[in-house]
Amino acid sequence: MAKERGKNTYVVFDPSMRSRVQDAMRLETELRRAIAQEEIVAHYQPIVSVADNVLLGFEALARWRHPERGLIFPGEFIELAEETGLIVNLGRQILSAALQDLASWCTVHPAASRLTMSVNLSARQFMQSDLVEQVRQAVRASGMPAQCLCLELTESVVMENAASARVLLERLKALQVRLAVDDFGTGYSSLAYLHQFPLDSLKVDRSFVQRLGRQDSDNAIVHAIIQLAQALRLRVVAEGVEEVAQLEVLQSLGCDAAQGYLLGKPMPAEAVLRLLAGLDSETLQLRHCV
Ligand code: C2E
Ligand code: MG
Ligand code: MG
Ligand code: MG
Repeated sequence: MAKERGKNTYVVFDPSMRSRVQDAMRLETELRRAIAQEEIVAHYQPIVSVADNVLLGFEALARWRHPERGLIFPGEFIELAEETGLIVNLGRQILSAALQDLASWCTVHPAASRLTMSVNLSARQFMQSDLVEQVRQAVRASGMPAQCLCLELTESVVMENAASARVLLERLKALQVRLAVDDFGTGYSSLAYLHQFPLDSLKVDRSFVQRLGRQDSDNAIVHAIIQLAQALRLRVVAEGVEEVAQLEVLQSLGCDAAQGYLLGKPMPAEAVLRLLAGLDSETLQLRHCV
C-alpha cells in the first residue's frame, strides 16, 4: 500500500498499533522473567474412561502465577511464547514438572502409577533438534516409565512436514512414550498419513463435543471420528465435556475417554493429591457423573 502511493509518502503509524506493540514487548519481558523465576506452573485436568468412570490420567496445562495479576491462562501467553521461542524453556519446565508431580503422587498413592500424564508440544518445540533427548532426560529424571507420558501434538504440527514428522514421531515412539493428536478435526489431516504415524490416540476437539446431543448431524462428526479411530486402532478422547448429555452420547458412540469441566477442571498439584485421596485406591473410579 505504501509502495503504491509512491516514494515520497509515508504511512502514519497508528498509535493503537504502537501501544499493541508496546504491550507485546512488555509481555515478552515479563514472560522471560516469569520463566526464569519459575512462575509458570502446571495445573492438571483429569482424563476419565467413558465406560466406567475410571481416572486414566491428567493433562498438564500451563498457568502463569503472576505476582500481581494472579493466575494467567495460556490464551494470554502461549502464542507469544511460541513466536519468541520462549516456549522451548517453558515447555521443558512443564514437561519435567508434570512428570515429577506424577512421580510424587505415586509415592503417596501407588495406583497412580497406572495414570498417564499428557503434555502439550507446540510446533516450535517439535522443531527442536534435541527434543527426543529432552524427553528422554525428563522421563529418566522423574523415574517414571516412559509409557506414563503422552505427548499431544496438533494436526498442523504433524501434517505440515509429514515426512520429517514421521521420522521424529518414530524416534519419540521408540522411547515408548504415547502420542496423541490434539484438537482433532480442526486442522487438516491427511488420512493417508494418519495411519502411517505411530499414534496412540486422537483428541476430538471441544467444538464438536459441545454440539453433541443437539442435532443428529452434530453427533455424526464425532461418530465418524470415533469410527475412524477404531479402524486405525487409536483411542479417542473427547475434549471439553461439560454436560451429562454429552457424556451419554459419547458413551453410546463408544468413545474411550473424556476430559472436561463436567469431570474435573484443571487443578493445582495439591488438589490432585486430595482427589486421589478420595478415590478407591484399587479402581481409581470417580464417583460422580453418569
Ligand atoms: P488444549 O491442549 O486443547 O487443552 C485443552 C483446553 O481446554 C485447556 O485450556 C482446558 O482448560 C480447556 N478445557 C478443558 N475442559 C473444558 C471444558 O469443559 N470447557 C471449556 N470451555 N474448556 C475446557 P487452557 O488450559 O486454557 O489451554 C489452552 C491451550 O493452550 C491448550 O489447548 C494448549 O494448546 C495450550 N497449552 C496449554 N498448556 C500448554 C503447554 O504447557 N505447552 C504448550 N505448548 N501449549 C500449552
Ligand atoms: Mg492438549
Ligand atoms: Mg485440545
Ligand atoms: Mg485446544
